[in-house]
Amino acid sequence: MVGLYLGRSELESESINTRYLHIQLLPSSFDAAGRANAAQRLTCFLIDDRLTVDAGSIGIALNDAQRRTVRDVIVTHPHMDHIASLPIFVDDLFGELEQPIRIHATDEVIDLLKRDVFNDNVYPRFDELKNERGRVMEYVPFEVGKEFKVAHFTITAVPVNHIVPTVGLLISDGKVTVAFSSDTAETQEFWNLVSRAPHLEALFIEASFPNSMGALAEASKHLTPETLRKELHKLSHNGMDILAVHLKPAYRETVARELLELGIDNLSVMETGRVYEW
Ligand SMILES: [Zn+2]
Ligand SMILES: [Zn+2]
Repeated sequence: MVGLYLGRSELESESINTRYLHIQLLPSSFDAAGRANAAQRLTCFLIDDRLTVDAGSIGIALNDAQRRTVRDVIVTHPHMDHIASLPIFVDDLFGELEQPIRIHATDEVIDLLKRDVFNDNVYPRFDELKNERGRVMEYVPFEVGKEFKVAHFTITAVPVNHIVPTVGLLISDGKVTVAFSSDTAETQEFWNLVSRAPHLEALFIEASFPNSMGALAEASKHLTPETLRKELHKLSHNGMDILAVHLKPAYRETVARELLELGIDNLSVMETGRVYEW
């Protein structure tokens, strides 16, 4: 793993080096001067400035160059922290889009987005609207367990164990393979999928609550550092970078300390705003 710390202006001028897969957890929390800070309130992973996994902060944290290149969004599940600014993202780009924003999700999740978000009450049914050049948003369903392509990526989604229909993902650019647990409690199919991958460079796994809140984690179908440790035993690989995400901001320091205390060398808390490369 190579880490880069880039400011906004540097990010905009940096040409993407195609030798690496780039992943950034977009910032979603800002101080009074507008500077991003470490707290993760929303979930949106930006991959190669082209695709996002979830869209919590997509409408507030992309720079102008990224706004022009991100046209595919995978929604793992419809919880607000994963889709909060997706409607704003489409709205901002409405007049200038030359191709639709493609929302990739299971049929179940697409139905929920249509019913509860893009429903002409909360926000417009963008999939039915056009600008001068054509449609501005389209839903692209995928089937769980079946490989599909988005841009230069090959992706497989499988159900995980969350309170609403949710998928975990395996994503490869042909050279580098990474996995996203999304929000989940203890699960199995995801670990089978990840263990079948020939090699894995990075695993993004949720760690929402501290160990003392195990009952709430269980009820809301999330992990704690202790249950995360048990989940990792289901993995046949080792040596990949393990990046913990989705730490609830109110308990971030405790969860981070408990993760550190697990003593797993290649496990760290993912930093928001940092561009990671593999
Ligand atoms: Zn969730
Ligand atoms: Zn979440």
